[in-house]
Amino acid sequence: AKKAGGSRFKIFDESCQQDYARQLYIESELRHVLQRRELKLFYQPQLDLKTGTVVGVEALIRWQHPEMGLVSPVEFIPIAEQMELIHGIGYWVAEEGIRQAKAWHDQGMPLRVGINLSARQFSDEMLADKLSRMLKDSALPPALLDVEITESVAMDNPEQALFMLRKLQDLGVSLALDDFGTGYSSLEYLQKFAVDYIKIDRAFVSNLITNPADQGIVRAVLGIAESLGSRVIAEGVETEAELQLLSSLGCDEIQGYLIGRPMPASEIPAVIAQYTHN
Ligand code: C2E
Ligand code: CA
Ligand code: CA
Ligand code: CA
Repeated sequence: AKKAGGSRFKIFDESCQQDYARQLYIESELRHVLQRRELKLFYQPQLDLKTGTVVGVEALIRWQHPEMGLVSPVEFIPIAEQMELIHGIGYWVAEEGIRQAKAWHDQGMPLRVGINLSARQFSDEMLADKLSRMLKDSALPPALLDVEITESVAMDNPEQALFMLRKLQDLGVSLALDDFGTGYSSLEYLQKFAVDYIKIDRAFVSNLITNPADQGIVRAVLGIAESLGSRVIAEGVETEAELQLLSSLGCDEIQGYLIGRPMPASEIPAVIAQYTHN
């Protein structure tokens, strides 16, 4: 029994060592991502259910590494946060997202472009000033920039978070509360934050058709959003049946593989055209 336990430990230890080696490798490689231009933004379309047109996109970061291939943001963003590299990466995302939004705007496609902000970036006192400067330099109408935050921004320091949110609202950008329902959803903060969009997490959309409990949650979120004057975007919509149900419940917008996967900016005009009705 002792022997078996020993080898079990060894297997665990080896895979643990491999994980640790990869983590260390990612840490050392992450330091150079900006300078080596290995980051890229993909865009996922958002469909307005009332008009049936594409009104926005969410920018999702991709890391194309020469050895590791495509590294998921789920893996490298938490490491970038620990290493405080998230600030530089986050500003790159903002700059690139704004540049792309302005390019589409100038081509007659005024799409709202959503960027994801880490909670860590909220502790950066310069955040609002830097975004303000980028918006002015780009001449993008600020409302076309949508800033996605999660409830975790309020965890460490709710007062400071509220102060930062007000500063962002003053810039004229729109605010979206991401992954709604998965964190600490205090109704009090929801009311104080007064976000333009509430994004229902994929977890509640995946089993919407078969699970009455999830339907109940979605109805409740739509009711709360209505009373707060926020619009609702449902994430992770993969089937026509989900679209129909969300539409009948009064959901404003959907995002998911049904409409399109995250894709290079160059492929977005074709999706817009596909959903243009004459
Ligand atoms: P998120 O903000 O919740 O983004 C939505 C994720 O769901 C994306 O994963 C997207 O590809 C995926 N998704 C969208 N539609 C569907 C669908 O119909 N079915 C399924 N199964 N999945 C769908 P992705 O691109 O891997 O991003 C993962 C997370 O990484 C994001 O979750 C976000 O938290 C983070 N992230 C991505 N880009 C950035 C960024 O620029 N900055 C920061 N701080 N975080 C980012
Ligand atoms: Ca998001
Ligand atoms: Ca989300
Ligand atoms: Ca998520």
